[in-house]
Amino acid sequence: MSTQRILSGMRPTGKLHLGHYTGALENWIEQQNLLQPDGTRAYETCFLIADYHTLTTSLDTTSIYDHSIDMLIDWLAAGVDPDISPVFRQSQIKEHAELFLLFSNLITTARLERNPTLKEQVRDLNMESMVYGHLGYPVLQAADILLYKGNIVPVGEDQLPHVEITREISRKFNIHFPHPVLGEVFPEPAPKITKFSRLLGLDGKTKMSKSLGNTILLSDTPEEVAAKMRNAVTDTMKVRRNDPGRPEVCTVFSYHQRFSSPDTLASVEAGCRAGSLGCVDCKKMCAAAISAELAPMLEKRRHFEARPELVREILLEGESKARRIASQTMTEVRQAMRLGEQGA
Ligand code: SF4
Repeated sequence: MSTQRILSGMRPTGKLHLGHYTGALENWIEQQNLLQPDGTRAYETCFLIADYHTLTTSLDTTSIYDHSIDMLIDWLAAGVDPDISPVFRQSQIKEHAELFLLFSNLITTARLERNPTLKEQVRDLNMESMVYGHLGYPVLQAADILLYKGNIVPVGEDQLPHVEITREISRKFNIHFPHPVLGEVFPEPAPKITKFSRLLGLDGKTKMSKSLGNTILLSDTPEEVAAKMRNAVTDTMKVRRNDPGRPEVCTVFSYHQRFSSPDTLASVEAGCRAGSLGCVDCKKMCAAAISAELAPMLEKRRHFEARPELVREILLEGESKARRIASQTMTEVRQAMRLGEQGA
């Protein structure tokens, strides 16, 4: 089995919450650390701070650097190892924009408008009119992945249409622009359906989202976690302490399922159903379980927060590694397209 490359990214929205952790970050770290039977790494992982992507929904760039650093610190605290996985900002590798421009000519606007994920985003964001960059979002994503010749794209089922666009663009490029030596410049990345575990927000209505104010941050202290947990929505039918409850409809129980031990989970479920466990105590146990998992991250976060120069060095080093790969790919692209002296 040869090593396969995975590029994963997040928009820099600042400090991350538990939903980011269980929905993506935990998975990234598992992929980063996975070994093959011969002891070599199963995947080469690269982690992208997708700052260009934020422009498709907001032109406010005031905090983009601070948000990038806050997010990076959470990545490092959670276990991203920059010696294994380069971390870098999209905007600092000019080849992303260059490849995006070239790819924009390999796909029709009608094809992009049919993208179901995009239609959902337009509905959810309640946007009156979409900017051109948003329509081209999957094309920029294709450039992000193919610039590093990612062979595997870990996705949830809802993101499959985006991967399909990347695959189409790769195929089209390889057919139209065969490379004189390599034959094909790009791999056709395979989607790897990953069971992302999505966490409900504290309001119990929808997923965790900072804009909805229903999150627990990875950087929250035990006191902050406990305070937030006190407001979490539970089974509304369990009004008094001794009322029997229904864990299956309770947000707090869904957190227990992810963060508590099997024994605690079983006793919470039994106590809730029997009416012997009150929500106040149950929430305290849940907050403690979450804080126990966050404790090592909190410690690492403090380490990096106290060393901003180290974090910046990690980022610049990652960008330098990414730039070398991106530059090589663009040389091949220009050769295949016969652009400039190298292709003449
Ligand atoms: S006891 Fe726990 S699981 Fe049951 S409703 Fe209350 S918070 Fe939810």
